Amino acid sequence: MLDNELIRYIKSNYLNFFNKEERLIYNSILNSQKLSKLSLEAKEIFSQNIEDFRCNNLQKEEENLFFEKVIFRIISEEKVYINRCPYCGTLARTPYAERAKCGHSWYNPNVKDK
Ligand SMILES: [Zn+2]
Repeated sequence: MLDNELIRYIKSNYLNFFNKEERLIYNSILNSQKLSKLSLEAKEIFSQNIEDFRCNNLQKEEENLFFEKVIFRIISEEKVYINRCPYCGTLARTPYAERAKCGHSWYNPNVKDK
């Protein structure tokens, strides 16, 4: 049930539910991703200029496990609204969307003041 789309959805819409430790790990993953695209020289500058720079070299599988664990926790503990298309179940981009990639549109009671 924890597909990549759902992980993306929670990461982009409910980052506020990541606790402090989870946020640190998430940031370090983002830092590693940024670093991996830089030249050696740029890497040096980048890592010297970021306060509390952290970069833990998690393997891809460890990263995936981390996100699965966090997302699962958030879904079970926090108030999240999984906004799926009522016709086909496709996940929308945000909790407020009334249209998904499938092209269907619907009425979303979460959306106020249209
Ligand atoms: Zn649909």
